[in-house]
Amino acid sequence: MGDELTPMMRQYREIKDQHSDKILFFRLGDFYEMFDEDARTASGILQLALTKRHDIPMCGIPHHAAANYIRRLIEAGYKIAVCEQMEEPGKGKTIVRRDVRRIITPGTLIDEFSLNSSANNFLAAVFAESGMQANGCRETVFLAADCSTGDLEITHLVAGSEGDLENLLCEYKPRELLVSENQDFFSKIKGSENMIINRLPAYVSEKEYAVRKIKAAFGLSSLKGLGIEESPLLSGCLSQALYYLEDTQKESISHLKIPQIRRRDGHMFLDSATIKNLELAVNNLDQTERFTLLEAIDCACTPMGKRRLRRWIMEPLIIQEQIEFRLSRADFFYKHPSLLREARKILGCISDLERTGARLVLKKAQPREIVALKHSLTYAMQFFKALESGGYDNERISALPNPEPLITDIETVMLEEPSVMPDEGGLIKPGVDARLDEYLASKRDGKTWLLELQKEEAEKSGINTLKIKYNRVFGYYFEITKSHLSNVPVHFIKKQTLANAERFTTEKLQSYEQIILEAEEKSAALEQEIFISLRERLACAIKIIQQLACEIAFVDVIASYAQNALEKKYCCPQITDENILFIKNGRHPVIESCLQSDFIPNDLEMNPDYAVHIITGPNMSGKSTYLRQNALIVLMAQIGSWVPAEEAKIGIVDRIFTRIGASDNLARGESTFLVEMAEAANILNNATGRSLVIMDEIGRGTSTYDGLSLAWAIIEYIIDNPQLSCKTLFATHYHELTGLEKFRGVKNFNVAVKEWKNSVVFLKKVICGAADRSYGIHVAKLAGMPDEVIRRASIILKDLESFSGKTAGAIECDLGRLDKQCEKDQLFFVDPHTEVVIEKLRSYDINNTTPVEALNFLSALKKDL
Ligand code: ADP
Repeated sequence: MGDELTPMMRQYREIKDQHSDKILFFRLGDFYEMFDEDARTASGILQLALTKRHDIPMCGIPHHAAANYIRRLIEAGYKIAVCEQMEEPGKGKTIVRRDVRRIITPGTLIDEFSLNSSANNFLAAVFAESGMQANGCRETVFLAADCSTGDLEITHLVAGSEGDLENLLCEYKPRELLVSENQDFFSKIKGSENMIINRLPAYVSEKEYAVRKIKAAFGLSSLKGLGIEESPLLSGCLSQALYYLEDTQKESISHLKIPQIRRRDGHMFLDSATIKNLELAVNNLDQTERFTLLEAIDCACTPMGKRRLRRWIMEPLIIQEQIEFRLSRADFFYKHPSLLREARKILGCISDLERTGARLVLKKAQPREIVALKHSLTYAMQFFKALESGGYDNERISALPNPEPLITDIETVMLEEPSVMPDEGGLIKPGVDARLDEYLASKRDGKTWLLELQKEEAEKSGINTLKIKYNRVFGYYFEITKSHLSNVPVHFIKKQTLANAERFTTEKLQSYEQIILEAEEKSAALEQEIFISLRERLACAIKIIQQLACEIAFVDVIASYAQNALEKKYCCPQITDENILFIKNGRHPVIESCLQSDFIPNDLEMNPDYAVHIITGPNMSGKSTYLRQNALIVLMAQIGSWVPAEEAKIGIVDRIFTRIGASDNLARGESTFLVEMAEAANILNNATGRSLVIMDEIGRGTSTYDGLSLAWAIIEYIIDNPQLSCKTLFATHYHELTGLEKFRGVKNFNVAVKEWKNSVVFLKKVICGAADRSYGIHVAKLAGMPDEVIRRASIILKDLESFSGKTAGAIECDLGRLDKQCEKDQLFFVDPHTEVVIEKLRSYDINNTTPVEALNFLSALKKDL
């Protein structure tokens, strides 16, 4: 088969062999063609016609529309290699040179239109130590790189577990993952002295090589400051990610920022359960951003600000000064609302500097983007000037680099409204290059000559409709319609015959044409050259652009905090290192913004003397909302935001743990209850005295007895372990748990309800003390349960209450007990008729009965039944 292939197909197959995991876009003239299996796959996804040439399936797309098709394939989960023609097809060449110029994968995208401007697009790399330690942990490195912004963050877990990996994946939401193969082998054989490998005079170790690569990538002479040198795993992971990024972009990736190495003690680590349960950036309803904390508080004006806020939400601070710094900056804007207004107005005009910066470095920024960059940099200057004159942190602003030279450079070189593509001409201002001005003058003069020539020939021939026209194939020509053909001058040379006209040229026209076309070709090439060198100069200034973008992102988020404070009546939390939480009239930031009616605010006061709050109340009374709102307020305070409350004093918490609802993980074959217990175990194993724990309805996933005992034991464990005794909000429908109040540190609360006309009104107010009824039947009525069921349930409830001598509050537990007790007790549930029989039995006086009477009574009872 190979022998029968055309040279082009042979070239195709050679290139495809190196990119078998991707769809290969193979440039043929103005098209990208796909062949074989790629053609089958792509034609299905892109709805293209699948054709055949020499029995080989193929389909193609016009090269100028490639971006849209690429986006659709990426969204469908494919990687793409784009293979270009590396030379012009010419005479005598059987085949042009082709090469893969770019690889596009979901985690390495840089094109704006395929990216979400308010979120990073992360590629993650995970490298883990090969052997596992006895405790199930191993050194793990998790890297997240966003090629479209240059962000690079590494989390080094000296003792990482699979759970940590899950948490990080949930936090970063990478679109692609790079994983290591284990490198056990060498470390093992190097351990034994006899091995030849140890006696080899010289070899380059992977680590040395990796370190060299990293130093070169970031222009560093030492990696000491990054703490990378101590860990081969870390340097291996980073260098592999660098290789991969370079390989996909086929350019130097000098816009990558110096990696930020994150350690556990630097900020609050959120686990995946908490990120999901608190619906920080994705809701649990339809996995979108609607009804999330991010949506509720994001009013940043720039894409950089939006991305920064998202990262901050995932990475709350734990150092008081850092939190207070953000709060105080927001306070400044709060107190200067007119400056805030002005600043936000200018911010709205600044485009995505970070992503444009990356596209400059990767040689992808187009002419109009560069003009937009000039505008954005001008607005950035205006922005910082406004802040400076408004008295905002002058020290930080004066430390910023001046973008003026970049603005002037673009202003001098580029036309205000350039063409879309760099090779089309129409980019560069006059006066930039003398040669270009000459070409452009010839082009202009040539056009005037043409007009004069047209006039002259029309007059001479008497054909007053005579016109000089142009097309790309035939160049310039005179077009004469059939009716005037008899008047064609003799010096006209025929070029082409059409149905109702003929096309001619003349020697003079040919010479003008040559001058004009040459001038056009040369000017377009020269314009492109000048444009590219401008782009390169700007790319060299990437650090300036990034520094400005970074500060803009910071101020944008801070200003949005102040905006929320003003618009939504948030307050500035007081941060303390005491182990307390005090929230007066707190609200839920998301629910409050969705509710039509007013949100009822609630207080919270926790301290080591009352670390565990047990909150009882009927379903629908607002328990979950209360739990979440407090966790969210603490989290908001620790990202340096103002909070939805009248007053708040927040003792910094080291972690927020949540155990909420019954989130099934059936896809992974885990039962609800197992997930519930795993989450609870994670809390008990990892919480400290400084953590905040919220537990909603724990134990619900099992039988009443099991659930109640587990819930009881969990709270006991928390209060019995002095090093633990974390601040815990525990919502439950097990009223028995209110009995725990007798222990030190535990306090009962309930969400108030009011009975009104045989129904209940939820007041949504959290008050001291335990709830006395569960109101489950009332809720069922509200939910539209048939009246018959409601009536029957009320009877059973009454019986159970009299049977157990307890209030309805304790009934649910009794129901469970009855389940397991002897048959006698079960009579209560069987049938209303049995109640009559039971009553007869109860009142029957055995002492005054003969055996025969007793027998008759028994037979009558049997009949009744
Ligand atoms: P529970 O956990 O007790 O079953 P939820 O917290 O789910 O109750 O709240 C039930 C409903 O009441 C929700 O729709 C919620 O929006 C609303 N709600 C909860 N708390 C408040 C409040 N403080 N003010 C107004 N509406 C509230």
